[in-house]
Order: sequence, then structure tokens, then C-alpha cells
Amino acid sequence: MSAARAQFDEAGRLRHLLTLEAMPPRLILELLDTAAALAAATGGKVKKLPLLRGRTVVNLFFEPSTRTRTSFELAASRLSAEVVNFDVAQSSTTKGETVLDTLRTLEAMHCDLFVVRHRENGTPEYLARHAGPGVAIVNAGDGNHAHPTQGLLDAYTIRHHKGPEFGRLRVAIVGDIAHSRVARSAIHVLTALGVGELRVCGPAALLPRDLGPAIAVSSDLDAILDGVDVVMMLRLQRERMRETEVPDAADYHARYGLDRRRLALARPDAIVMHPGPMNRGVEIASEVADGPQSVILDQVSNGLVVRMAVMARLVGAGNVAG
Ligand code: ASP
Repeated sequence: MSAARAQFDEAGRLRHLLTLEAMPPRLILELLDTAAALAAATGGKVKKLPLLRGRTVVNLFFEPSTRTRTSFELAASRLSAEVVNFDVAQSSTTKGETVLDTLRTLEAMHCDLFVVRHRENGTPEYLARHAGPGVAIVNAGDGNHAHPTQGLLDAYTIRHHKGPEFGRLRVAIVGDIAHSRVARSAIHVLTALGVGELRVCGPAALLPRDLGPAIAVSSDLDAILDGVDVVMMLRLQRERMRETEVPDAADYHARYGLDRRRLALARPDAIVMHPGPMNRGVEIASEVADGPQSVILDQVSNGLVVRMAVMARLVGAGNVAG
């Protein structure tokens, strides 16, 4: 819960975005509405808005990323910010500089917002606690802890396709739940928005024990998929497992892979989500990933406006919700 508190200032205003845990539903909806307003304002086209003019955004990624880093970079530049992509491999990190010294060095160059991805849980919170006045930290994924902008874009995508009444929806999250920051943030945001039913599924070894009584947990994928409106598939986080823990890919696909036959167990209008990167033929078959029920590329597009909304909220000028 400490990240949940650390992201607000004394007046209760959102100062950093670290987690969706205990995030007030009103604030989540405001961010989603701002994202929708930005989508309408830009008409889905490349169009610059001046909300972050004069601001500098730094992408500090200590773990690999395709979607998230590019999405933050484009989001910042579409808000007219200056963007710096910190290249860890070429940086003084390789000479032993601590992450806090890196932050202080970049702060001294008057950077305003740091987008941080790190393999250690809690690194964005640690930097937020040490950030100078007016400097904002956005967590772009820390260990298996949280990925709040992914959770927001997932909620945005579900609302876009299924409407605003989350209480009517049944959502299944499938795969490596234990190592997934995406699952954790999805659970937090969907719970806050009052989702009707939340089910999680995966091999017993990849299911956390602390999910609480409101979430149905099972290793039986066919049973979990029965009648759901949304299926969210997850990648096996091999990089967070010991070699011996990594399941055999073919065996995993046979038990937990989403193919057309299994998807037919969900509602006929169910949507299929995946945060990417996908491992086709492991957690998801191509016939589903590329099929008519897939909204996977919508998630990517929506990530852009959601990240614009988050950055505008933290360091932007003026009110963009109207
Ligand atoms: N891109 C997501 C993340 O960074 C999901 C994944 O890597 O599987 O957590």
C-alpha cells in the first residue's frame, strides 16, 4: 500500500503514478475520460497539442520494452514535450552509477517527468520519494508489482468495447499471474470499477495465493472461459522464473493456450486482450490473436491516449478533460 500513498501529495492530488492499488474510482474515470477527450481532439491522427510545451520527459527503461517505451515517447511528443530516451546500455549505469544518482543528474538538467521501468519491485516508488519538487515519476512496470498505465489502457479498451457498466462484465485473466504486473494492475483497476466477476486461471505454480475471496481462481481453463465477456491472456514471464520453473511450451499451450475452440466457450461477442509481447503458439494461437474478437492492436492504440492523459494530469498545463 505504500506506493498507493506515495503517489499523492499532502493535498491529495496525484503527483506520481505508481500503482492502481486503492486508486479512487473517480480518479480512474477522470483519466479515462481525459484519454477519450484526447482521442476525440486528435481525431486518431498525428496532431500535436501544446499541453506539455516547455516540459522535458525522460524515458528511463532499465528493462526491455517495445510498446510501452515507444508509446510514452509518442505520447509526450504529441503533447509537445521534449523527450529524452535514456539508453541504459550506453549510460553510466554500466559504470556503477545508482539509479538515484541517475535521477539527480537528470533532474539537475531540469527534466520534469521520468517514465521508469525496472526489474526490481518498488524502484519507481523509491525514486518518487526522492524526486525534487515538481518532478513526477510514472511507473512503466516494476518487477511483478505494477504496470498502472497498462491497467488504465486495459480498462479504457474494455469500456470502449463493452460500455461503461463494468458491473455487468465477467473478465478472465489467464496465464502467468504470479509474475505479472499486468495482471495485478488489471485486478486493481477492474475491482475499483466494480467489475461483475473476475476470474483468474493458470498453472497452480503460477497462481498467487493472496488474491482475496472476491476473485475466482482455477487451473481449469475451459471452466474459467465459460460465458466471459473479456479474456485477457498473459505471457509466461520467463525472465522472472528459474530455468527449471519454465513450463514446456507445447504442454503449456495444450492446457492454457487460447485457441478458437476454447474461445467458443466465452460469450460470442467476447473480446480477446493481450498486453504484448505475444508468444504465438504458447499462450495464444494466431487464429485468435489475429481473429475478429482480438482487440490487441486497439490496446496499443489506446495506450497512446491513456499515457497522454496521465502525463497531462501530472505535469500538463490547464484542464484537458473538457
Ligand atoms: N509488456 C508487459 C510488461 O511489461 C507484459 C509482458 O512483458 O509480458 O509487463
